[in-house]
Amino acid sequence: MLKTTPVPAFSDNYIWLIHGIADPRKVAIVDPGDAEPVIKRLKDQDLEPAAILVTHHHWDHVGGVGRLVDEFGLPVYGPAGEDIPSRDFALLEGDTVALEDLGVDFSILDCPGHTAGHIAYYGHQALFCGDTLFSAGCGRLFEGTPEQMSESLGKFAALPGDTRIFCTHEYTLSNLRFASAVEPANRDIEAYSTTAQALREQGQPTLPSTLDLEGRVNPFMRCGEASVRSSAEHHAGRPLPDPVSVFATVRAWKDAF
Ligand code: ZN
Ligand code: FE
Repeated sequence: MLKTTPVPAFSDNYIWLIHGIADPRKVAIVDPGDAEPVIKRLKDQDLEPAAILVTHHHWDHVGGVGRLVDEFGLPVYGPAGEDIPSRDFALLEGDTVALEDLGVDFSILDCPGHTAGHIAYYGHQALFCGDTLFSAGCGRLFEGTPEQMSESLGKFAALPGDTRIFCTHEYTLSNLRFASAVEPANRDIEAYSTTAQALREQGQPTLPSTLDLEGRVNPFMRCGEASVRSSAEHHAGRPLPDPVSVFATVRAWKDAF
């Protein structure tokens, strides 16, 4: 299993460090929105950075790239379809990232919706999905359509259930409040809320999640379920003919929740 470390940044971001398999002192840095907490963690734990992986262009994911590159001369991997500072490797679906220092490989999935060129890194039963999928929620549609985001989440849903989901924000508790408004009778949401609450009270991250868990609690991954559909139809006040229109309704509902 891939060893990872979450570095908290800003109010609710996590910058994930992915440790090398042969040498766990070597790390790849995912979405460094801020260099400061990363540099501190590298020093404190005597870690050696090997690469930067970026999922999308938002400032809270790339703000620290420049300084980390200046300081450590790291190669920067990022989406081909977006403007990423210091990017050396422009990635699209089907590409492979081989981090030789770490003995870690990822394949790239395109997942537009939150932003137009958003990508995710998948490998070693782990998915680094940026702001596309959150635990019990999903990213806002800043640049994409409900169709695109549904398709992106559908790609994730096709991965093995034990895939660990490394989201980049700690939004789980507020997402769960919305999820239980959509599905008040869903016992898995209730149980997860208790677990997540306890973790947060101890100052622990609720992440990573798993795809299995998201399939049971995440309304945006459950738009094909009768319970989510009927709740969305009630909210919209009209019949919703397909999962994409259910998704669009639930997303708009959450935006105003
Ligand atoms: Zn974002
Ligand atoms: Fe973000």
